[in-house]
Amino acid sequence: IYILAIESSCDDTSAAVLMNDKVLSNVVATQAIHKEYGGVVPELASRAHQQNIVPVVAQALAKANIDKKQLSAIAFTRGPGLMGSLLVGTSFAKSLALGLQIPLIEVNHMKAHILAHFIDDETMKAPSFPFLALTISGGHTQIVQVNDFFDMKIIGQTLDDAVGEAFDKSAKILGLPYPGGPLIDKYAATGNPLRFEFPIPKVKDLDFSFSGLKTSILYFIQKQTKEDADFVKNNIEDICASIQYTIITILMRKLKKAVKLTGIKEIAIGGGVSANSGIRKILIEAQAKYGWKTYIPKFEYCTDNAAMIGIVGYYKYKNEAFVKQDITAKARYLIS
Ligand code: ATP
Ligand code: FE
Repeated sequence: IYILAIESSCDDTSAAVLMNDKVLSNVVATQAIHKEYGGVVPELASRAHQQNIVPVVAQALAKANIDKKQLSAIAFTRGPGLMGSLLVGTSFAKSLALGLQIPLIEVNHMKAHILAHFIDDETMKAPSFPFLALTISGGHTQIVQVNDFFDMKIIGQTLDDAVGEAFDKSAKILGLPYPGGPLIDKYAATGNPLRFEFPIPKVKDLDFSFSGLKTSILYFIQKQTKEDADFVKNNIEDICASIQYTIITILMRKLKKAVKLTGIKEIAIGGGVSANSGIRKILIEAQAKYGWKTYIPKFEYCTDNAAMIGIVGYYKYKNEAFVKQDITAKARYLIS
């Protein structure tokens, strides 16, 4: 089975070709335009997708050495995401499937972040059901109990900002360019995580809150900069390490609570923020420390990519879960 997968939910245009559960190609065009604005501008994202989609799909097919006539089906991201962005991928997928007379498969982006673990790759192994998925990305922060490929339930989520936003907004306060998450990670590597202390919010059950953190960082930086104009510049490593440490502490506390409540010790992370080296490290350590089995996707399957859409497409293909041409994009689209 050959699946062509298309992802265009936010600011990355991506296309992948899978042979069953193996990735033959996974092309991602990241839109640089948003850097100037310090965040994703929906209108510009949509236009960039329109420019990128044809060459990105062509490249994915060429890299996989597959002719479009060999394709078994087309999978695309239906949502959640920016409507203008989703429309480009959805319309493209629909017309290509119609032209080629092959089945069309709709995929939920957040499910894909979770099921990316099932891509057949020698550097990764798949979690066994049931497992807990911590999905941490630019728009979401969820703890999901995954009972089977298509049986999942959100058991905890953020009440305000997502973890990725917490990283990016903190970075913005520090004057770092968008998206700041990876830069905080980079500076944190050589910083002292215990140098500055930021409050851990008290939130009920398995839910999260990150908006308070951003505010406390803002006030802290404003205060310190008044005393020393070069405070950020001179302490960037320690500030980033302390912010990252606080975010990881918040995530780990809830994860421990979820393990306790469910009795499930299989833990898989997903979403762009799972590229964070501090999170990857603490989850590897958790295996010996708490007796968990932790699963961390390969770097390129963490941030937005079409390969993860393709793996969901493959499992849906086996179930013959196809959609018709009247399918529409869905900006708000829950996983269950
Ligand atoms: P969603 O998946 O919720 O729709 P999205 O698709 O925009 O949101 P992803 O691409 O999954 O988000 O993740 C992007 C986020 O991941 C950004 O906020 C980015 O800063 C963050 N991120 C990427 N790498 C790192 C890193 N190494 N450390 C911290 N954050 C990171
Ligand atoms: Fe994403």
